[in-house]
Amino acid sequence: MPTAGRARRSKVMGESCECRLCQRHRRVGTVKKEGSVEELRALVDELYSALGDVEFDNEYYHAIFDGSWPSAEEQARGILERCAARKEQG
Ligand SMILES: [Zn+2]
Repeated sequence: MPTAGRARRSKVMGESCECRLCQRHRRVGTVKKEGSVEELRALVDELYSALGDVEFDNEYYHAIFDGSWPSAEEQARGILERCAARKEQG
């Protein structure tokens, strides 16, 4: 991973940040360090579920980008329209 990515990630994982990513990062650290077996199991289940959602989304968007999703053309058109509208807004 490039240095810029590492720097950005360490900044994102700041202790005072309340975004979902930072909250999860802190929770994982706490449970790894001092959690019970049950808390570790619950965390694994939660992370496994979240990973499944991310993998599904990744495959869905990949299928849109490679044109194999049934509505890929319509969705791509919508994306281009929204890009153009944002450009006009400045
Ligand atoms: Zn954050």
